[in-house]
Amino acid sequence: MKVASVLIPLPVPEAFDYEVPEGLEVVRGDHAAVPLGPRLVRGVVAEVRETTGSNRRLKAIAHLVDDPRVPAGTLDFVEWAARWTLSPPGEMAAAALKGLRAPRPRPERRVRRVGERAPARPTAARSAVLEALGGRSMQGAELARAAGVSSGVVKGLLDEGVLETVEIEAVAAFDAPDPGHAPATLNPDQAAAAEALAEATARGGFAPFLLDGVTGSGKTEAYLEAAARVLAAEPSAQVLILLPEIALTQALIERIADRFGAAPAEWHSGVAPPRRRQVWEAVAAGRCNIVVGARSALFLPYANLRLLVVDEEHDGSFKQDEGLVYHARDLAVARARIEGATVVLASATPSLETLWNAQQGRYGWLKLTARHGAAVLPDIKLLDLRLSPPDPQTWLSQPLREAIGETLQRGEQTLLFLNRRGYAPVVLCRACGHRLTAPDTDSWLVEHRYTGRLVCHLTGFTMARPKHCPSCGAADSLVPVGPGVERVEEEVRQLFPEARTAVFSSDTAPDGRSARALIQRMADGEIDILVATQAAAKGHNFPNLTLVGVVDADLGLRGGDLRAAERTYQLLTQAAGRAGRADRPGRAILQTWTPEHPVLIALAAGDRDAFVEAEMAEREAASLPPWGRLAAIILSSENAMAVEKTARDLAEAIPNAERLEVYGPADAPLALIRGRRRKRLLVRADRDVDLQGFLRVWLARVKVPASVRLSVDVDPYSFL
Ligand code: ADP
Repeated sequence: MKVASVLIPLPVPEAFDYEVPEGLEVVRGDHAAVPLGPRLVRGVVAEVRETTGSNRRLKAIAHLVDDPRVPAGTLDFVEWAARWTLSPPGEMAAAALKGLRAPRPRPERRVRRVGERAPARPTAARSAVLEALGGRSMQGAELARAAGVSSGVVKGLLDEGVLETVEIEAVAAFDAPDPGHAPATLNPDQAAAAEALAEATARGGFAPFLLDGVTGSGKTEAYLEAAARVLAAEPSAQVLILLPEIALTQALIERIADRFGAAPAEWHSGVAPPRRRQVWEAVAAGRCNIVVGARSALFLPYANLRLLVVDEEHDGSFKQDEGLVYHARDLAVARARIEGATVVLASATPSLETLWNAQQGRYGWLKLTARHGAAVLPDIKLLDLRLSPPDPQTWLSQPLREAIGETLQRGEQTLLFLNRRGYAPVVLCRACGHRLTAPDTDSWLVEHRYTGRLVCHLTGFTMARPKHCPSCGAADSLVPVGPGVERVEEEVRQLFPEARTAVFSSDTAPDGRSARALIQRMADGEIDILVATQAAAKGHNFPNLTLVGVVDADLGLRGGDLRAAERTYQLLTQAAGRAGRADRPGRAILQTWTPEHPVLIALAAGDRDAFVEAEMAEREAASLPPWGRLAAIILSSENAMAVEKTARDLAEAIPNAERLEVYGPADAPLALIRGRRRKRLLVRADRDVDLQGFLRVWLARVKVPASVRLSVDVDPYSFL
């Protein structure tokens, strides 16, 4: 008897077995409808094996579903990713099938000729229509336009039966990229990097690289050239480029279209579902060579994936924290290993994990040491706020104000960077000192002036600004404390009323289209001073931007989590790196109360190695990543007692293990979110410990009640 294991999109730890009916041809990767309770559900066949009968009676596969088979590499990857992240394999498979579950694009209604039939009354207009149409099919309106007649003429021919309407399924055609279309002339560093990548890909087999180049050094040019060589050598090859933000995709898509004479496929949550289905099918059929996307593009069913690029690999957005918890950079490396492909992690400020791998010789290390052409790195200065403090209730010190004024006078642009949305991060009652929080969440409400509301950034809860303090009832006593981007823009407008200003944050540019529009206005010189959160700090090229002012360089350093220093270093380097990308030199001014902080000293000196060395030494001393590994377990429930009890049960069930410690359970820093109580446990292990194996044994020992949600976060980035 043949048995098939079928992955079903359910939170269960393994695939379910079904009998393969006599005579049914089933192979791994097929889509099958299988009975589950009273229903039929769809799943993917993960394995087919021969058994000599079993004592369990298995239900049988009902029938196969005629969808493109999931390639072996994609299934191997899904299974590996589920094991690595301790996620249900069926749910991981569902992530890979998302595009296939989207509706098909609506068929197009077109008209075409019925045989050789001629109109009873030929007129000049009617002949023009038949001539424009020829043997093709066209949309009615398009045909009328092409023939230069009114749509009534086409309708008349339809009524007479000379033309007929047909419904044609829209199949996405992706033009083949032309590697020789518009090659760039690379500088020697870039050429060497592209060469190394192309060579490794031609050799075949897993080949991971760090592409390490300062901002503006031409990393994109280098990996696009590598892609061109890979495609020239093997026209069926597929290339995936992952970006951390949807807002960055459009610029890259345009660059690729210019370079290859054909646009790549785009894949992220902003792409309409019918289009996603087309991309899924084209990728599976090998009809599409270049994909540009967000982290979920990793799960597409590539027919022949040869080269993966993770651009801005240090970016925390690659970590998905909700639903399936995974880090797209780490999974990209795994996918490359499974596919026997080349993977390039590109950054000006690589993560310590990736630098560690490069230092250990596990990754090839390609370096671009200078900005391309005449562009030089910006001059970075620390501005000691203790010496020039801003006036009360303002945030820009006198020297920074002067620098903005000079930049304006020269007709150049300024970016003021503050990683805080809204008007003020805290609203306080002057009468009683109460700080406003969301009703069911441990998080302060942020004042937003544009919308006139108070917003919880964690849950999205909003309310109108109350007239009275909710705690003491005092009237008109609520005051904003501290600056957000909106408040800094207000200050800028008062200081420079003639300047054209704008705010760039996820509030002013909530989707790809509005972000693109803002970026375009900035690139076109329609904005003099842009006040921005990290939304604008990465990736973009603004040729006329010569001054970057960091309003609060200390902000990220106060958090105290594992990567606080690393993140601050990366973010501020990226923000400063926006300045002076063309032929005009740029400068960056960092306002700080702690100019003696080692991170800021390293930044000002442009001495990344010193920063990395110091930070690595601290991590090594504490055996923290990249020297050790972490995993978090987060419990949450509306029932506080149930969370307590499950946390205690977990603590009592910790298996014995060496070179591994468990911390907690403790209240999470955000102990209450949307009315749910939260507790955390943290596991630290040496690198050679089987952390996932330990977690599996541990979790199998504890029964978690239905009222408690338990989630596992392997390699956590958030500790809240
Ligand atoms: P990075 O990805 O390292 O930030 P980019 O690839 O975006 O850098 O390059 C920065 C700027 O320099 C871009 O405008 C790019 O077009 C230009 N540039 C880089 N390398 C070259 C080259 N070899 N020839 C022409 N322009 C280049």
